[in-house]
Amino acid sequence: MPSTQPKEYTIVIAGGGAGGVSVAAALKLAQPDLNIALVEPSDKHYYQAGWTLVGGGAMSQRQTVRDQSSLIPSGVEWIPDRVAEFNPEQNQLVLQGGQTLQYQFLVTALGLQLDWDKIAGLQESIGQHGVTSNYRFDLAPYTWQCISEFRGGRALFTQPAMPIKCAGAPQKILYLAADHWRRNGVNADSHFFTQGGAMFGVPLFARALDKIIAGYDATPHFGVNLTAVDGAAGEAVFVDAEGNEQTEKFDFLHVTPPQSAPDVIKQSDLAGETGWVEVDRNSLQHKRFDNVFGLGDCTDTTNAKTAAAVRRQFPVVVSNLLAVLAQDGSAANSSYDGYGGCPLTTERGKVMMAEFRYDGEVVPSFNLDPRVPRRLYWWLKERFFPFLYWNVMLKGRDWDKPAARPRPHLLGE
Ligand code: FAD
Repeated sequence: MPSTQPKEYTIVIAGGGAGGVSVAAALKLAQPDLNIALVEPSDKHYYQAGWTLVGGGAMSQRQTVRDQSSLIPSGVEWIPDRVAEFNPEQNQLVLQGGQTLQYQFLVTALGLQLDWDKIAGLQESIGQHGVTSNYRFDLAPYTWQCISEFRGGRALFTQPAMPIKCAGAPQKILYLAADHWRRNGVNADSHFFTQGGAMFGVPLFARALDKIIAGYDATPHFGVNLTAVDGAAGEAVFVDAEGNEQTEKFDFLHVTPPQSAPDVIKQSDLAGETGWVEVDRNSLQHKRFDNVFGLGDCTDTTNAKTAAAVRRQFPVVVSNLLAVLAQDGSAANSSYDGYGGCPLTTERGKVMMAEFRYDGEVVPSFNLDPRVPRRLYWWLKERFFPFLYWNVMLKGRDWDKPAARPRPHLLGE
């Protein structure tokens, strides 16, 4: 039963992942006296971007997790519960435990939902029979176990309909696996099954990745969706747009699950038509509720759903929220340009750094051709980005990054 006495806060942040913790920390840095609650059910915080490297045998699982309590900024009240219901018309939300929270401002940072159940037989098969996924903390080490113990046969890698978090992750692990097998003389017949029509959403990188996958003699299959798995039989069923089914045998299967907005958002007035939180793509302010902001994977903006995007979004949310809170006529005029980044691990030791903003505009940070896989970018992915995540972003810190900009002289083909 909901409590009759709502607890009141100036700001409630729903979700304490990459976006929620960064916003909480940055708000406290800006205005230490703010009365903020952060609702987050998990006592662990995960650096999910590391799971590709865990699955590829290049990072340990424990490097990707910390206690949530060590990251909640001091002065922010952590409520270890789950949001069960949003009532934006009343400026309230209800927790699973029954408590109602009243807010002046709400920040939604719930991430997205992994719909494992949409693939028949997957729950029974995953974690055994060579069926795995880097989209789960507990399974990323099993991915590496399967890859390192693989002695040859058919290896399948799947990618569902967009949007998903880290659109490159389904193929990154194919390249790390294929590279490992090649170096060790393992004869693998690798296949990439994607619901999409190209290797990547940004054509410049799609064309470069066509060559990378061909270089591994792996076969891409476009316009097909994984619908069922039988781990014991080593069979996966795919369906194309016309409804035609094909059954594929496998010895190893890496699954990227279908993904959608969290049900609690889909069922609330915060959702737009697509089910995601409906925000202005630049100000990140809700389109219908001025006192609600959203960032990260849970919003309907068309940027790549990545921590790299969150890093550019959280200062915008904080700046715009504080402008509206000030009630002195300040406008929410800080703007997010859609920046997202995807470090594509094309082999162990090399990364292709895909960086782009709204409408697929390529914006390399470095004055280098972004299609060329480089050791420098691997170092960034393996060492620098985790450091940045734990020590800068989650602390609410930011520095004057040069604005993302196109560099057409690098992109001639
Ligand atoms: P999250 O960080 O997922 O946080 C959401 C939080 O909300 C969670 O802590 C969750 O417990 C909480 N929550 C959920 N439901 C509720 C509820 N009802 N009530 C309260 N709290 C709730 N990004 C990159 O930039 N580069 C990469 O190379 C990269 N690789 C990736 C590889 C993999 C395998 C995966 C899985 C992700 C990768 N990402 C990468 C994506 C990145 O991790 C996400 O985009 C980022 O974490 C999004 O931040 P968020 O705050 O929106 O969501």
